[in-house]
Amino acid sequence: MSIYNFSAGPAVLPQPVIAQIQAELPSFQDSGMSILEISHRSNLFEQVLHDAEQDLRDLLTIPDNYHVLFFQGGGTLQFTAAPLNLARHHRIGLLDSGHWAQRAAAEAERVGTKVHVLASGAETNFKQLPILARPVDQNLDYVHLTTNNTIEGTMTTALPNTGRVPLAADMSSNFLGESYQVSDFGLIFAGAQKNLGPAGLTIVIVRDDLIGHVDNLPSMLDYQLFAAKNSMFNTPPVFAIYAAGLVLKWLKQQGGLDTMVARNHAKAALLYDFLDQSRLFTNPVKTSDRSTMNVPFITGNTDLDNQVIQDAQEHGLVNLKGHRLVGGMRASLYNAMPLAGVQALVDYLDNFEAHHR
Ligand code: PMP
Repeated sequence: MSIYNFSAGPAVLPQPVIAQIQAELPSFQDSGMSILEISHRSNLFEQVLHDAEQDLRDLLTIPDNYHVLFFQGGGTLQFTAAPLNLARHHRIGLLDSGHWAQRAAAEAERVGTKVHVLASGAETNFKQLPILARPVDQNLDYVHLTTNNTIEGTMTTALPNTGRVPLAADMSSNFLGESYQVSDFGLIFAGAQKNLGPAGLTIVIVRDDLIGHVDNLPSMLDYQLFAAKNSMFNTPPVFAIYAAGLVLKWLKQQGGLDTMVARNHAKAALLYDFLDQSRLFTNPVKTSDRSTMNVPFITGNTDLDNQVIQDAQEHGLVNLKGHRLVGGMRASLYNAMPLAGVQALVDYLDNFEAHHR
């Protein structure tokens, strides 16, 4: 039986990438050593790191005045690193789109940053994105935005107008899955384990004029230091960078970002169209704010939801349990989820519905 993995992260990776990892795991590029064993200072790894950065630059058309940095510590460490590096005046704005935006705000406050909530989706229980109602105070250091809300299932495509204040985006759950212009942001960060590769790697893309203004930052959080050391201040996550590099090459082979985004929209439309006509399942999110990456849905009956999750698993549709904050089900449809997987889910749900009216 084929398995389709709808996990929100760590998540499904492309089959050809898994096959390649397996094939070259004992001996990387005929070196007689595994990628798990080689030095990060070796020529072999330097090439891996170089290719990963170049492929990312090609896929996202990253302008030359942006650094691409490879961090550890997940998206969560960037909730601390972003304010330490960029919030020189200790004042940032927040678009409160739910759980991960609030987590980012809490970490910023821990390092002495005042967080101004500019708009919140709280009144709609985050079923809608926050909307800026008035011009943004131009003295803020940046505005934090979560482009895709993994738990609530909302996604921003129209960026807010913040004037001269840079946007800092947590793109953890739709990095390389939806298209954005890098030049619209001062900072982008994303944990790799949803749409790019295994856990242990976090991508940071930052405009060069925004960094290097704060002295004596903890070294492991210092964007300027990581830029100067080519992300090799200490031992980087070698295997995670290697695997992400393979995914980047796979993305290029598929036709790049435009192809992936078109596929993601088609996959999401298939599931949302089903949910919208269903008399059993519903997706609670405002239509224009729906995520193409994470689709939460419910029956309205917790016991029935649990039955769906359990029974779907027995049919090879795994990791559909929703986040504990919202309950119900959640299907994550990242780049490596094929259309056939979404079709299998829709067919399954349709059949379940026919037997549970
Ligand atoms: N931001 C978003 C949008 C997320 O979905 C997550 C993880 N679910 C995080 C940040 C935290 O990421 P990490 O576990 O890599 O620290």
